[in-house]
Amino acid sequence: MSSATVLQNYINGEWCESSATTYLDVTNPATAEILAKVPIGIAADVEQAAKAAATAFGIWRRTPPGERVQYLFKLKALLEENFEDLATTITQECGKTLAESKGELQRAIENVEVACGIPILMQGYNSEDIAKGIDEILIRQPVGVAAVIAPFNFPGMIPFWFMPYAIACGNTYIIKPSEKVPLTMQKVMQLLAQTGLPKGVVNLVNGAKEVVDAILDHPAIRAISFVGSTPVARYVYSRATANGKRAQCQGGAKNPVIVLPDADMAMTTRIVADSAFGCAGQRCLAASLAVTVGEARQTFTAAIAEAASTRVVGYGLDQGVQMGPVITDESQARIEQLIQQGIAEGATPLVDGRQTKITDYPKGYFIRPTLLENIEPTSTIAQTEVFGPVLGLIHLDTVDDAIAFVNSGQYGNMACLFTSSGAAARKFRYEAEVGNLGINIGVAAPMAFFPFSGWKESFFGDLHGQGHHAVEFFTQTKVVVERWFQDWSRQF
Ligand code: NAD
Repeated sequence: MSSATVLQNYINGEWCESSATTYLDVTNPATAEILAKVPIGIAADVEQAAKAAATAFGIWRRTPPGERVQYLFKLKALLEENFEDLATTITQECGKTLAESKGELQRAIENVEVACGIPILMQGYNSEDIAKGIDEILIRQPVGVAAVIAPFNFPGMIPFWFMPYAIACGNTYIIKPSEKVPLTMQKVMQLLAQTGLPKGVVNLVNGAKEVVDAILDHPAIRAISFVGSTPVARYVYSRATANGKRAQCQGGAKNPVIVLPDADMAMTTRIVADSAFGCAGQRCLAASLAVTVGEARQTFTAAIAEAASTRVVGYGLDQGVQMGPVITDESQARIEQLIQQGIAEGATPLVDGRQTKITDYPKGYFIRPTLLENIEPTSTIAQTEVFGPVLGLIHLDTVDDAIAFVNSGQYGNMACLFTSSGAAARKFRYEAEVGNLGINIGVAAPMAFFPFSGWKESFFGDLHGQGHHAVEFFTQTKVVVERWFQDWSRQF
């Protein structure tokens, strides 16, 4: 794609220009090369997309579910055929390694697979003879037009937590990708078009805040899925629900992992390093704080420092690279400033990844893995989502102290425990106030057939993305109570 390419929207089955007059550069964070220009869309773009989706809904909801999912079977095949190209695009615009991009894409495909089960997943239920001769039936019907507002860190996966379920259930859809990484969804829309999906069923609108606000205010759009930072999640949830829409809004995180002295230290170190530094720490399920209990302090600290300082950083498309850059130069500056603040608060930088230069990519936004020891549990660095390759170490005396620390945080996205004790694991599973929990797991990401949970400031809403929750979110229930008099039936 040439640097001058201006991205288009996909509305009503056609690629079309945005009405916007301002554009942002889409940049490769490893090279600072400009990949494309994305329009900062305006409300008129949303109006066009909402109209197309609302018109398409009339026919799409009457298309039998078994027929609707045929388009998803075709989409799965096309995603697999174009796997390398899509993964490469993710790495180019988002910075993660090619292996990470492939993992992300695999998760997207798994959601398509699960949504193919909609003919059975969206079935209702019934009771005969709730009173003599009277039956009661629960039917699931689609909600109407739905939309997703996506973050930058998983350009290929996150819209798939929602879109396949939404359309399989008979809704029509609008995707608003992050303006930082709009290229992957451009390619996905090209593939969706190849499936022969009827026009208007899925639409793509590029843009930022103005587009989001227009989506939140448009009366035809009935359901909003949002994934991004907590302040924006809270804002989107408030505005969407005030406008009478259903909303599910996933926010930020500050994920602690607890390491007990009886954990397998070699395995624990490898897993925690992958969690903290994989995707350059730009995962909502990245380990951000490691809490060592008792004697785990010595063994784990030395091992994780070794892992942090030897991780290979570079361009994600190059062989052998284990960690790519962060998304923008602003992000790099923000993360480096937070590291500085942590040190000012008393943390010791055991490994300091600031001021990183990668010889072949001098313009890239690189930060090497950073390890901060002696973090004060109440300090800013212990409470703030860094969203970069920075792991803080906190040392506590008991499992109870560690669980109390986990539960003191404002977020509740994920927490993990490393141990060989079943009793400690059960206690942790029972008491930890988080929505996704790992036992000897570093990134407790639910499979497509489980909801992607999240508690406290990490989630606003009731029903999550993926699995049964997605089916409930994208359908509304109708309860029918029926009585048929015998003599009425005889008349025909
Ligand atoms: P972000 O909140 O900046 O942006 C997310 C989306 O909201 C984008 O599409 C953006 O255009 C839009 N947006 C941004 N500011 C807005 C505003 N003021 N008004 C209306 N819309 C606005 O998030 P990001 O930086 O793209 O993504 C990183 C964040 O997402 C991190 O906090 C991370 O933890 C979170 N995240 C959470 C999950 C989860 O499952 N909980 C998953 C992935 C990422």
